[in-house]
Amino acid sequence: MASFKAIRIDKADKGTTAALTQFDEAELMDGDVTVRVEWSTLNYKDGLALTGKAPVVRRFPMIAGIDFAGTVEASSDPAWKAGDKVVCTGWGMGETHLGAYAEKARVKGDWLVALPQGLSARDAMAIGTAGFTAMLSVLALEKHGVSPKSGPVVVTGAAGGVGSVAIAVLSRVGYHVIASTGRATEADYLKSLGAAEVIDRNELSAPAKPLAKERWAGGVDSVGSNTLANLLSMTRYGGAIAACGLAAGMDLPSSVAPFILRGVCLLGIDSVMCPIDPRKAAWQRLASDLDRTKLSEITTEIPLDQVPEWGAKILAGQVRGRIVVKIV
Ligand code: NDP
Repeated sequence: MASFKAIRIDKADKGTTAALTQFDEAELMDGDVTVRVEWSTLNYKDGLALTGKAPVVRRFPMIAGIDFAGTVEASSDPAWKAGDKVVCTGWGMGETHLGAYAEKARVKGDWLVALPQGLSARDAMAIGTAGFTAMLSVLALEKHGVSPKSGPVVVTGAAGGVGSVAIAVLSRVGYHVIASTGRATEADYLKSLGAAEVIDRNELSAPAKPLAKERWAGGVDSVGSNTLANLLSMTRYGGAIAACGLAAGMDLPSSVAPFILRGVCLLGIDSVMCPIDPRKAAWQRLASDLDRTKLSEITTEIPLDQVPEWGAKILAGQVRGRIVVKIV
């Protein structure tokens, strides 16, 4: 294969362009493992990169796509051999390193995780970076000591990718989940995933008081800004909020009151440079604690050539759950 199909991002007079094209194999970047990519996915960050709405891409030309699952084709890393099934998320793919919306990817062997038993490559990308981040958030809450016995947990951006997987996993392991959404029409969907209660996100979007009535023991927040500030001010004594996203903004107009008067903790979640051991742990937990029927309910499959169009939709908040991209 001297060239292969890829979604390529180029600089244009105004901004950037993203289009399906042939990419020359000789242009692949350094790496010790070459992977035949079978599935990828669409995350919020992919939407930003594809539309050029934020400076996610820092090298041109770029192959978009921050995560993939596929089969090793060739490896000079002794940890991997041809035929191994692997999953790769983050590490700057689609930002500084050529990414995942392509038939081929070349990466460092250290970046790869073996596909866990029981998960197909398609399942892994139906989960994708968003679902992986949701699992990292759940693991952080557990590590902090938030258990189903501690009280309810809240999930914001509930109908999005991170939110949908977080609800499915948290409810499966026994938490009482409160889902916060701006889409009242998705209430049945959220309940089918396991949400015990659905609230309107407007309840959490006004400027936060330093402390408010205690409503939950923990939370997974993919929204940021006032929403995160409200989550903190409504967290029970000793609880914690895992902050992983910024769908409403990067700011955090909060006060120290929840921290110093209620011992609340803010747990930062990063999926991109997350070390390899927690990565493996998160994928194992996703294999065991994410109901496959629910996963298929939240998943929409699209072909590679529709990726740019769906990139704009995810930024417009029009995507429900997860989008999986069929590469070949
Ligand atoms: P999605 O677009 O699938 O979901 C985001 C959801 O947030 C939307 O579905 C919507 O949920 C809600 N939302 C959107 N706009 C607003 C707004 N203005 N105010 C309040 N809520 C809003 O994205 P993902 O789930 O893929 O990603 C969610 C966030 O997490 C993003 O900010 C992303 O960058 C971040 N992220 C961070 C990672 C990390 O490593 N820390 C990794 C992956 C993602 P609803 O309609 O239910 O209200």
